Amino acid sequence: MSLRPASEALYAEACGLMPGGVNSPVRAFKAVGGTPVFFERAKGAYLYDADGNRYVDYVSSWGAILLGHADDRVVSAIANAAAHGTSFGAPHAGEVKLAKEILARVPNLERIRFVNSGTEATLAAIRLARAATGRSKILKFEGNYHGAVDSLLAKAGSGIATFGLPDSAGVPKAITQDTLLARYNDAEQVSAILDANKGEVAAVLVEPVAGNMGLVPPAPGFLEKLRELCDAHGVLLVFDEVMTGFRVAKGGAGQRLGIRPDLFCMGKVIGGGLPVGAYGGRKDLMDLVAPLGPMYQAGTLSGNPLAMAAGYAALSNAGDEQYAALEVLGARLEAGLARVCEGQNVSAQVQRVGSMISVFFTAEPVRDFDEASGTDKPLFAKVFHSMLNKGFYLPPSALEAWFFTASHSVDDIDLTVEAFGESLAEAGK
Ligand SMILES: *Cc1c(COP(=O)(O)O)cnc(C)c1O
Repeated sequence: MSLRPASEALYAEACGLMPGGVNSPVRAFKAVGGTPVFFERAKGAYLYDADGNRYVDYVSSWGAILLGHADDRVVSAIANAAAHGTSFGAPHAGEVKLAKEILARVPNLERIRFVNSGTEATLAAIRLARAATGRSKILKFEGNYHGAVDSLLAKAGSGIATFGLPDSAGVPKAITQDTLLARYNDAEQVSAILDANKGEVAAVLVEPVAGNMGLVPPAPGFLEKLRELCDAHGVLLVFDEVMTGFRVAKGGAGQRLGIRPDLFCMGKVIGGGLPVGAYGGRKDLMDLVAPLGPMYQAGTLSGNPLAMAAGYAALSNAGDEQYAALEVLGARLEAGLARVCEGQNVSAQVQRVGSMISVFFTAEPVRDFDEASGTDKPLFAKVFHSMLNKGFYLPPSALEAWFFTASHSVDDIDLTVEAFGESLAEAGK
């Protein structure tokens, strides 16, 4: 008998209405097989599906949920904003409040522009880098994902990797020919590529902590070297912090790691679970954005009052104490997962930065996309389904990071570790 008949019925219906039954591809479980779970509600660390089953959530809306689902402070901020008007198409105080909060947290972030998604943020940031430098090439890393932007859909990590497509159909060659690809954590290769394209590269775009091929931390010195190379070549360094921003630290990855990019992209956490994105950075660069400068970028719903209020409520309640607590939970989860893998004689790498973590089934640390792709994905799929049936919702792909929130308790973490050990044992049978 199925554990999830309501999800199965909804999925069958959804497949007749939306491509693959979903509105974003990874949700469809293609990497792990089976029927995607349809949810009805979420609270704190837990998701509840259409059949009433409860799950400890390790997707956390792909990192967007930091405090926990339906946090009372965020919910009341949204309700209050909604009662005062859902969109003005004009400036409002909520934008000022959130912008001030974000700028105060991030070193080197002098100006910000809100948009509606991370995809929009990276799209605008590379347009700005090109406007500022008068150059057209962009260097990105294999396995880094920057949203569904045409020119950035070259070796874009999880969502794409999951489907084994090197690229997306429908993207003309002319658009990706200005996209240069390097191996993550390989500064030597970046150096060689910049030498070979002297005076032509506008920006190096990087996830400062990679989270879209599973969690892959920057090797010691890698980001420092990128900063140095960018300075030497007159190239702008763009940190895509859509995932890491205000998740790995109070001031994002740039602050945590002590590296100052020229431009930032943000999203996820800054919207408190509502659709949002942002880009920003040095004032002289942001002054090029319309209406001050010649680079056009606009959005009807940008700076939406509900999104601004939700983001402010989330961020203003995430201070040093919350980040310290996330670090403690993370260390406990990391140690526990490593312990049960070892106990079952399973080769695994537990990689973590802050409240982002991955278990890769492989004997060696994972530093780049090829290594991430070479891990034991069939084993992950088995463990995923065991965990799901025990009430733990992991990301449905071996190439996605897991996210936990300030609502996860020590008990949640310990039960997760215990269930993971049992799942490994079941998978080995
Ligand atoms: C999620 C993500 C994006 C895209 O953001 P959307 O809101 O999904 O458009 C861009 N960059 C990174 C690093 C991301 O994790």
